[in-house]
Amino acid sequence: MPRKSPRSRRRPPEPRLPEKARPRTTPGRKPAGRRSAPDRVAERVPRVAHARRGAGAAGERRSAVAARAAAVAAILERLYPDARTPLTHANALQLLVATILSAQCTDARVNLVTPGLFARFPDAAALAGADRAELEELIRSTGFYRNKAKAIQGCCAAIVARHGGEVPRDLEALVELPGVGRKTANVVRGSAYGLPGIVVDTHVQRLAHRLGFTVERDPVKIEFALQPLLPEPRWSAFSLWLIFHGRRVCVARKPRCSICPLSPHCPRLGVTSAA
Ligand code: SF4
Repeated sequence: MPRKSPRSRRRPPEPRLPEKARPRTTPGRKPAGRRSAPDRVAERVPRVAHARRGAGAAGERRSAVAARAAAVAAILERLYPDARTPLTHANALQLLVATILSAQCTDARVNLVTPGLFARFPDAAALAGADRAELEELIRSTGFYRNKAKAIQGCCAAIVARHGGEVPRDLEALVELPGVGRKTANVVRGSAYGLPGIVVDTHVQRLAHRLGFTVERDPVKIEFALQPLLPEPRWSAFSLWLIFHGRRVCVARKPRCSICPLSPHCPRLGVTSAA
């Protein structure tokens, strides 16, 4: 009797069961990769709802996030006891103008420019009435000098017209000045007037995420998410501490987590590579 080839000895395939009668791989659980679109949406909903409530990015309760924020603030206060704005200024107007100049420019460069600028144009009226070409030349090295000159003159003209030449303290009045957003307004309130205000710059944005304080991306939403975590008198200092820490330790590319004193309190959200 001739031997069968291996191919002919193979068992015929079992008939496929109709879709409904097919058993699931694990009872009560659908096979991976076969979830319906509504199922996938439902899986995301709790996270989104949680984010909208403003709790921490790591899914903690708000009280736990606040406790962690207090611990982080206490460590940062010890690390940076003398933290103050690096922009040299003698009054609120000088700080306001220096902050406008600091956009896309280092604080050191701004500090080189402002002494000459304020010697030539010492107050809001002088800056508002300055020859535009001369003003642009004085601030040219800070970059974007045409836009900055326009912003400074528009802002100073409004300060003269609406506030008698004095920079207002009120947040609403400050943000109504041309070229002044909440970040600049909070810098002036905190560093010139000693009033509460959380400054959300690129460092504060980054650290607020990594430390799991908020899932928000918009700077204004981050500001509102951080406010309830600490008492008002600590708002201004807290943002300065975060800025200092963001420049020295929790840098953008490779945060120095191995030497960071905040490490025990930090979930390091979004950190993929650290030194
Ligand atoms: S532990 Fe790392 S991610 Fe967290 S604050 Fe420190 S440097 Fe930044």
